[in-house]
Amino acid sequence: MDERKVLLEVTRRLRTRFGPIREGLGSDPLDLLVRTILSQNTSDRNRDRAYAELRRRFPTWEAVLSAPVADVERAIQGAGLHHQRAARLKHVLRRIQDEQGELSLAFLAGLPDEEAAAWLLSLPGIGKKTAYVVLLFGFGRPFFPVDTHIRRVTRRLGIVDSRAEPHAALAPLVPPGTEAEVHLQLIRLGREICRARRPRCPACPLADLCGYARSTHPNQARMGPPRKEVQ
Ligand code: SF4
Repeated sequence: MDERKVLLEVTRRLRTRFGPIREGLGSDPLDLLVRTILSQNTSDRNRDRAYAELRRRFPTWEAVLSAPVADVERAIQGAGLHHQRAARLKHVLRRIQDEQGELSLAFLAGLPDEEAAAWLLSLPGIGKKTAYVVLLFGFGRPFFPVDTHIRRVTRRLGIVDSRAEPHAALAPLVPPGTEAEVHLQLIRLGREICRARRPRCPACPLADLCGYARSTHPNQARMGPPRKEVQ
């Protein structure tokens, strides 16, 4: 089976396992950008705590921009790396305010896909994952963000080569219009089953498709998905 077909089958089985996932689409782009900055190199729980505290202390992004950096650091310290994150956050807000005259990313809606991506990637500390999250979930653009879970599970499955740049390798394999679902299903797989340490291959519906499982659990991989997953 080629990689495109494997990814289709993976998505079909994860939909059966986890149910349809539709969260996140239509979020405010600047809120998403800030949340994703807070999520870099930390857990979702820490990111959510830091974001909630930031919103509690500063009701608007204008208030964050005008606040002393030490106050912003205190608000987001639950996410870790708070000195670096607070400085990055204020740099990004300053750049948006200076260029657009307001704290909004609405102007990106008027740019072609690649120009909108290039603008976001020109912000300090913003990489492809963050830029593509904003474009996909904030604007419904056809980008496929790859986080640490997606990188790990697609490598284990053998869908992408470990030497390949994962965004470039995966984007052509994702059917247009399914980017958000594939992204969220693979992240859920990575969090709940295909964990970084001790992946739960015997409980995984993808074991018979997976190169990693074939090398570490050959008997289970030959048997196919756990019986309760077959529909
Ligand atoms: S079979 Fe194991 S390594 Fe492969 S995707 Fe499932 S949990 Fe991950």
